[in-house]
Amino acid sequence: MRDITKKYTNGEVTIIWQPAKCIHSGICFKGLPQVFNPKIKPWIAPLGATTQEIIAQVKNCPSGALSYTLNSDTKS
Ligand code: SF4
Repeated sequence: MRDITKKYTNGEVTIIWQPAKCIHSGICFKGLPQVFNPKIKPWIAPLGATTQEIIAQVKNCPSGALSYTLNSDTKS
């Protein structure tokens, strides 16, 4: 379980979640419940908010479990 990394993309931004780092603070699903909802699977719905809203929320994750990459970064 330790090294699992999950990725969820809306085509523009990719949300990266590392469950081993998550401290279950609840900040993500209190802040943006339309994207982060641990009661459903998959628990991250990247189409639930705008890319900017997702990035702002990911930056608030206190543990580093959430990070993101912009998909345009990988285009040459
Ligand atoms: S904000 Fe980060 S540490 Fe808190 S529940 Fe969400 S992913 Fe886990």
